[in-house]
This record gives sequence, structure tokens and C-alpha cells, in this order.
Amino acid sequence: MTFESLGLAPALLRALVEQNYNTPTPIQSEAIPLALAGHDLLGGAQTGTGKTAAFGLPLLNRLAKLTPVNGPRKPRALVLVPTRELAVQVNDSLRGYAKHLRLSISSIFGGAGMGPQVDMLRRGVDVLVATPGRLIDHMERGTAKLDGIEVLVLDEADRMLDMGFLPAMKRILAKLPRDRQTMLFSATFEAQIKQLALEFMVNPQQVQV
Ligand code: AMP
Repeated sequence: MTFESLGLAPALLRALVEQNYNTPTPIQSEAIPLALAGHDLLGGAQTGTGKTAAFGLPLLNRLAKLTPVNGPRKPRALVLVPTRELAVQVNDSLRGYAKHLRLSISSIFGGAGMGPQVDMLRRGVDVLVATPGRLIDHMERGTAKLDGIEVLVLDEADRMLDMGFLPAMKRILAKLPRDRQTMLFSATFEAQIKQLALEFMVNPQQVQV
């Protein structure tokens, strides 16, 4: 299996070669074709399995393909993560994969000043990586507009639930367009995760490594 055979855009393939990603990991081989086909995805994967690229590459491929909208740019993809550390890490990985694309990728998380995040959101961003609590703060101030979201990723969903983010996640989900692609990644699949999937995903395809 190669990244070429998965059907990714040349600009993404070039970035992967430069980062010495030679062979897709199992979760990438399974998830990428399904996600590129537009399916909702329920991914069972721990950290270290390559799950960031498993959702990141199809997400970026989709955003790169469609014509950019005119006017101020609203986020088109939202990646929700449990912690600021993961927000920084996912943001950096996505920027690396998108090196040869003209997409803007940024993160917002708690424990950092609102000012620079507000400025960044005003300037416009295509992919927003966010922790749930801070995203709610921005939604309440009207600085984060979520009505243009085409792709939603819930990364480490089980950890977000463990940290008590379920109410925040539900408030965020309620503001997103229904017509979107949703990918949920979790190391475990307890009842609450299954409930989330039932409520907020459409015919999700399950991938497990
Ligand atoms: P993740 O599980 O997404 O946090 O990725 C774990 C680590 O594996 C990160 O350092 C990635 O850069 C790296 N990685 C992910 N996919 C590949 C791949 N196909 N080939 C080489 N390294 C990879």
C-alpha cells in the first residue's frame, strides 16, 4: 500500500515524501479511502498510530479541491481536541501536511490570551483546531463562526468525555451545519461514545487498529 494509491492530491503527496512518510500506517490505509469517499468515520485508535494523518489528509484533500469562497474566510474544518498540548500537536502536523496548499490552519485553546486568537479568527482561517471550552468562549463572543464547517473531527473523544466536555461538545455540535462530514476518533468505545455517534453521525464506517 502506498499513499499514491490512496488517491491523495499531489501537493499532499509531496509533503508526505518530504516528511519521510513512505508507507501508510494501518489506520491510514483503512480510514483515508473511506474518508475521501465522503463517509462519516468512527475510528478506534490510540495515539502513536498515525491517526492525525488518517483524518488530516482526507480533510485537507477535500478543502484543497473545492473552490475557496469569496469574502471573509470562515472555518471550513473544525478539529476538537481535549487538551492544549494536543491542539498544538495536531495544528503542527496539519500545517506540515498542508505545506504546499494555500490553506490557513490555526488553533485556539484555554490558558492563552484571547486577543491573539480573536485577531487570528478575524483574519480568517480554513482549519480550526480547538479545545471545547475555549471554542465556546469564542462562540459566545461571536468571534468563532461555525456555519461554514464542512468537516468535523472529534479527536480523542473518550478523553474529551472524561474531562467533562460533553455539554460543551453538544453545544458546539448544535451550531454546525447538518450537511457535513464527521470523523470521530477514540481509543475506547463506551456507551457514551456510541451515543454521540448515533446522535451526530450519519451511517458511520468503523475502522479499528
Ligand atoms: P499520531 O498517532 O498521529 O500522533 O502519529 C504518531 C507519529 O507517527 C507522529 O510523529 C507522526 O508524524 C508519525 N507518522 C504518522 N504516520 C506516519 C507514516 N505513515 N509514516 C511515518 N511516520 C508517520
